[in-house]
Amino acid sequence: MDAPLRAEAYVDLAAIRANVAALRGYARDADVMVVVKADGYGHGIAATARAAVAGGATWLGTAVLEEALAVRAAGVTAPILSWLATPGEPYEDALAADIDLAAYAPWQLADIAAAAAARGTTARVHLKVDSGLGRGGAQPHDWAALLDAAARAQADGTVHIVGVWSHLACADEPGHPSIELQRKAFEQALSEAERKAVRPEIRHLANSAATVSAPRTHYDLVRAGIATYGLSPIPDHQTSEQLGLTPAMTLRARFALVKRVPKGHGVSYGHRYVTPDATTLGLVPLGYGDGVPRAASNVGPVWAAGAVRRIAGTVCMDQFVVDLGDATAKEGDDVVLFGPGTSGEPTAQDWAEATGTISYEIVTRLGTRVPRTYG
Ligand code: PLP
Repeated sequence: MDAPLRAEAYVDLAAIRANVAALRGYARDADVMVVVKADGYGHGIAATARAAVAGGATWLGTAVLEEALAVRAAGVTAPILSWLATPGEPYEDALAADIDLAAYAPWQLADIAAAAAARGTTARVHLKVDSGLGRGGAQPHDWAALLDAAARAQADGTVHIVGVWSHLACADEPGHPSIELQRKAFEQALSEAERKAVRPEIRHLANSAATVSAPRTHYDLVRAGIATYGLSPIPDHQTSEQLGLTPAMTLRARFALVKRVPKGHGVSYGHRYVTPDATTLGLVPLGYGDGVPRAASNVGPVWAAGAVRRIAGTVCMDQFVVDLGDATAKEGDDVVLFGPGTSGEPTAQDWAEATGTISYEIVTRLGTRVPRTYG
């Protein structure tokens, strides 16, 4: 790994491959889809998709079509499901790139079928039912109408129903009663599909949390996002280390300035930190413009000069300050915001806890000004 100039998000692709292999172990007989939406949860969509496939993922999942097309443009040929579309979506582009599509309403199925007819092909579709998340998916009372539309489209050859699927609301709380309720609602949706002779090859319900903690939800395929990147999907219950996962991203920077200040010195906008003693301050060239949460002001942990230090004062757009006490440090020295945690540095989960969010947000919000480097 080369030393960073200003800052870098280093992504350990071997860790991603190993995490996918670990997820295959959890999934047992089910296949693993790695979810690479939001630029591979901030890790870089192309490199992540390739590493996922190398690690044994047989599917990739994206939210929007542009992401699926980016994966194809990176030369990845594995099956891809793209699940979030609005009217007027360029479905013909999806069909040309051999991308599976989700449908949760008859109008959407009609748009997909029309695109397939125009191209003289058959679209591969996964029907989504809302088993209780209350977000996307057909409501149970609309499910029969969607199945009827699917059966008609299947009969005229424009659509092939590959999958039936749903998404869980509370899988990050293992044992939560809604998990079993949603599984039963999903079973009902599958039975109704069977009655209407819509027979999907692939049934999928589980996310990362359910993959590691709710085997009854695995069905034929699990859709794993956060665990692929080595972050615990059930952080209140098990750490990534306990789950056999390794955080793949290390966010590092180099001090742009190190200076000595007296006791009582106000630091950064609003002087929300005042030095309790004479101390050494280190200036880190990353800020909320790079995705470092402003909520980390005065609380964010970093590893610098051989110890965990706290952010001093307000996180600015491009920079923040760390109180180094009497430690010896100089410009150009490394400061690690988060990493796998194996050398004393904080993890993305530590950042999530310090700033009142989830690890997903810490890694996905990193901006384009932070170069991703790979090893
Ligand atoms: N499936 C769907 C539909 C999703 O939207 C997501 C991400 O939010 C996932 C699977 C993966 O979730 P996780 O990152 O918790 O594994």
